[in-house]
Amino acid sequence: TMESLQQRDKLSALGQLAAGIAHEIKNPLTSMKGFIQIMKADRKYNEEYLKIMELELERLESISQELMCFAKPNKNQWKVCNLGAILEKSIALLEGDIFRKRIQVIFHRDEEPIPVFCDEQKIKQVFINLIKNAMEAMESQGKIIIKASKEKESAVITVTDTGCGIPEELMSRIGQPFFTTKENGNGLGLMMCNKIIAEHNGSISVRSKMGVGTTFAVTLPIFRDQG
Ligand code: ADP
Ligand code: MG
Repeated sequence: TMESLQQRDKLSALGQLAAGIAHEIKNPLTSMKGFIQIMKADRKYNEEYLKIMELELERLESISQELMCFAKPNKNQWKVCNLGAILEKSIALLEGDIFRKRIQVIFHRDEEPIPVFCDEQKIKQVFINLIKNAMEAMESQGKIIIKASKEKESAVITVTDTGCGIPEELMSRIGQPFFTTKENGNGLGLMMCNKIIAEHNGSISVRSKMGVGTTFAVTLPIFRDQG
């Protein structure tokens, strides 16, 4: 029957995700175990190995943090927020990295507030992820342009970078679990962004040109006071 087929698809999707997670967790664990064994055999403290182990632990931490967003059933804190203010807070949280990488961030926002009914923490997470990806796509001294505007019934936020761009042939894989082109990436960021934006009845799209840059656009419904 149709149901049993769908059930089978769901199970195979779950199986693929589980295999992906197991793989992503096994790598850093194997590496840390190796370094512990070397240090035990040498019977000495090794700063370098500890540094690598710390990075591996951070990687595990980030994987578990991002997967958490799929594990927890909707405990969203919904309220009406001004999207412009959320963006400002998101940018402020990344100020240190922006300064260190000498990246120029330009933020264009409407004068008037852009009200959306949302979970502020989650929407902040989405913007932080998009801005981090933009930063990671650039050498130092790149530029990030963030725009927030109201278009009829929707709020549209774009994050544009002057980074490396995404090759055409990889476009369809962007946002798939664990798809990453980065040495220290986990390939979960955009999947999480997609999930959060879908929960808010919005959508994310991407446009990119190799060597020129990339634009991610997030669309969210504007909150209308019924009263
Ligand atoms: P991660 O950042 O851990 O790799 P993401 O899900 O955030 O995982 O991104 C997946 C992949 O999409 C990245 O590894 C990169 O190849 C590509 N990508 C995302 N954003 C950008 C961007 N702004 N410019 C170029 N490539 C990007
Ligand atoms: Mg990312």
